Amino acid sequence: MKSSTATATTATADGGRPRTLPYVGRFAPSPTGDLHLGSLYTAAGAYLESRSHRGRFLVRIEDLDRPREVPGAAGRILATLEAFGFEWDGAVMRQSARSDQYAAALRTLTERGLLFACSCSRSQLPGSAPYPGTCRTLRLASGPGVALRIRVEPGEIVFTDRVQGEFRQNLAATGGDFIVRRRDGPAAYALAVVVDDAAQGVTEVVRGADLLPSTPQQIHLQRALALPTPAYAHLPLLTEPDGAKLAKSRHSRRLDDADAGAQLLRVFALLGLDPPLSLTGAPVAELWPWAVDRWSLRRVPRCPSLALPRDPVTGS
Ligand code: GLU
Repeated sequence: MKSSTATATTATADGGRPRTLPYVGRFAPSPTGDLHLGSLYTAAGAYLESRSHRGRFLVRIEDLDRPREVPGAAGRILATLEAFGFEWDGAVMRQSARSDQYAAALRTLTERGLLFACSCSRSQLPGSAPYPGTCRTLRLASGPGVALRIRVEPGEIVFTDRVQGEFRQNLAATGGDFIVRRRDGPAAYALAVVVDDAAQGVTEVVRGADLLPSTPQQIHLQRALALPTPAYAHLPLLTEPDGAKLAKSRHSRRLDDADAGAQLLRVFALLGLDPPLSLTGAPVAELWPWAVDRWSLRRVPRCPSLALPRDPVTGS
């Protein structure tokens, strides 16, 4: 008998969907600040991947975490995307308007017996170690001030990322049973992203490699909710020239709309597109078709992070 293990434990490149399914990609920023060079890198990668497949490109504002939201950031993100020549299909989805859909998914998971209420506070839990299962069998009532966790069982989740290659994680050994609804009410990021990607028919998720380790949790949720698993491509995370996280330097400052062409050429170079000097000074409307034509995910550096080159003048 042919073993089905590979498909049961591996997210296939096309998520097991029929090959005729049209490509749908997305960029899903959180409005916790303005877009900077690192976000432009991810957005450009997602956009080029969609457009080179002649697919749809969606924008979703992930404004689930109200306390971390910076007032006005969502509007500025969309304005910056427009100034940089991004064109998206259909209306922008906002997670803040989708609590009913997340509640429905939580009901499904509850009906399947996969959730339990957890009253542990952060200080009661062991730092980075997996959740110790304190409330797993207590059958606490779910209500305000109580989180909901999904059970995970031992066993590896394995998938092949289109940039980073094979990735495997044993959820039980890393984070253990994880939160799908927070104590303070809203759905957790992993649940929202899975529900939204499925609702929008996303076939490939292109995003920063900082989210690679969260992907197995999302695949676990897709399986629990019987939703398709999209393909994943995690682009390297841009860092300061010394390898540090993009800090409050010019690299993490709000993108300057007046300098869109030069900044696009910069990220195109970092995406492996090798733009010729003759494109210097070209309008963004000319840069995108050139990049779509040349784009291939195979050109993207296959590393988790990528240091920005030092400025030859300032050395920073
Ligand atoms: N909202 C997340 C962020 O801004 C991205 C989530 C995703 O692309 O899945 O980092």
